[in-house]
Amino acid sequence: MTLTLEQLNSASRDEAAQMLDGLYEHSPWIAEQALNERPFTSLAHLKHAMCEVLAHAGRDAQLGLIRAHPELAGKAMVSKTLTAESTNEQTKAGLTDCTPEEFAKIQKLNADYNAKFSWPFILAVRGPRGVGYNKQQIIDAFERRLHGHPEFELAECLRNIHRIVEIRLNDKFGVEPTLGHQVWDWQEKLAQHSDPGYAEQGQLTVTYLTDAHRACAQRITQNMRDCGFDEVYTDAVGNVVGRYHPANAGGKYLMTGSHYDTVRNGGKYDGRLGIFVPMACVSELHKQAKRLPFGIEVVAFAEEEGQRYKATFLGSGALIGDFKPEWLDQQDADGITMRAAMQHAGLCVDDIPKIQRDPAQYLGFVEVHIEQGPVLNEVNIPLGVVTSINGSVRYLCEIIGTASHAGTTPMDRRRDAACAVAELALYMEQRAAKDGDSVATIGQLNVPGGSINVVPGRCTFSLDMRAPTDAQRDALVADVMAQLTHICERRSVRHTAELTMSAAAAPSAPEWQARWERAVSALGVPLFKLPSGAGHDAMKLHEVMPQAMLFVRGENAGISHNPLESTTSDDMQLCVDAFTHVLNQLSQELS
Ligand SMILES: [Zn+2]
Repeated sequence: MTLTLEQLNSASRDEAAQMLDGLYEHSPWIAEQALNERPFTSLAHLKHAMCEVLAHAGRDAQLGLIRAHPELAGKAMVSKTLTAESTNEQTKAGLTDCTPEEFAKIQKLNADYNAKFSWPFILAVRGPRGVGYNKQQIIDAFERRLHGHPEFELAECLRNIHRIVEIRLNDKFGVEPTLGHQVWDWQEKLAQHSDPGYAEQGQLTVTYLTDAHRACAQRITQNMRDCGFDEVYTDAVGNVVGRYHPANAGGKYLMTGSHYDTVRNGGKYDGRLGIFVPMACVSELHKQAKRLPFGIEVVAFAEEEGQRYKATFLGSGALIGDFKPEWLDQQDADGITMRAAMQHAGLCVDDIPKIQRDPAQYLGFVEVHIEQGPVLNEVNIPLGVVTSINGSVRYLCEIIGTASHAGTTPMDRRRDAACAVAELALYMEQRAAKDGDSVATIGQLNVPGGSINVVPGRCTFSLDMRAPTDAQRDALVADVMAQLTHICERRSVRHTAELTMSAAAAPSAPEWQARWERAVSALGVPLFKLPSGAGHDAMKLHEVMPQAMLFVRGENAGISHNPLESTTSDDMQLCVDAFTHVLNQLSQELS
């Protein structure tokens, strides 16, 4: 018998506690305390209330919960003393059906893990799609996490417990995130295409106009047709465009989308999530034969990551007339010019200026994207409203001191270039942290021609500084550059600094950000706002029309540009629901 939220909200306290029994392993107190938050407006609301109870319960209670869990394929499984829920999960993951070698391997991992952390390894074995990891994936996750820091691993165990509970809750309430699964499956299928050299190793790499890239475009085209878009075409730079017409000809369009190229050995969701979420919404509209007072234009941008050519945001740039003709002569690592690659792909280079959009025909631009950071994961909130895409600047710098004998030069007589950079790095770390939401990084730091027995005479390094507003970024840059000058004077070394990139911040348009906020709140998800540290296609559209973004929580502490990048079909479902809510808001506003 499946439950409804209404039953849970109207039941007596004891009855309600009974309904939620078995969610947290041998720990009914979590669900019981969360009942204080009734009435729940959604399952997302209930889930978050339970997360909050555990977050505030203190470390001993958290450890008690973790230790209430059985080991994976451990003694309790063998002696058949698992709870019904755990038996179901471990059976589905194939853990009751291990070969003797697999069984021995898992026992060894259990023992090593317990010895290091003094609690059992916790993994939501039904995984992000709910269908279950295979045994190899489980063993891989086990081996990887064995190397984690104890504090991080404690948090990771708690997050996995919440995911286990989420799936148990779905089962109790008979809920399937059907559209989330759909979005998940599209991404899984798209990830089958990968560039040569990476595909063989099971890695995902899709760079501009390779065979894999063109296969992706074809697959997205077919998916869009299946969804019921009225027009689907590939434009002159390789963007795949799907248009769902408005109720009346001449209506404006909402533009949305993200990129389908990837970094090398990247994740399956970066960019692609922002293509498939609105596609799921259009598919539903089409099924219901529903037209809105405005059209929907979903653009799968061909290029954002700048991997094959040094031309980032090529796809979205072309739509705002920011395609630079000199890019066509850029060569890839094999000496193939962009022009030749485009001709080979059957794209008409001469038509590029024609794809520039007239902003007057659009309501605005929205983009959903996986967060690519740890923030939403840490606060146990599935969706985050983006306040601004950070402005950034980059410099390539050099400090020149004096190379001298490492044995004979006394410490007070050195002009050590590397120590000067080290001092700057520590200053930057503190200065950026002081803002709360600025970031500053020295990602490259080299001592050219350095030797083990020579005081560094030169040190080349990079600076990357970002903040949600240009003013905040400029203040950060001014302080860091002043400190650089100050350090160099005090240490009697000199420096050069070359500005290589400067991008303005793209604050969300207030009325569009407010639409996302209303959508998130309507789902019962706590409102959480954050700036985007990474650049996105929305930055380009920002130059010509209002824009606002929505982030989706990433698993594995939000890791991205990495094959471990992941999110759940439950979170994707919430994202589809939020997008649908924004479409409904716009319909009401325009009718
Ligand atoms: Zn991206």
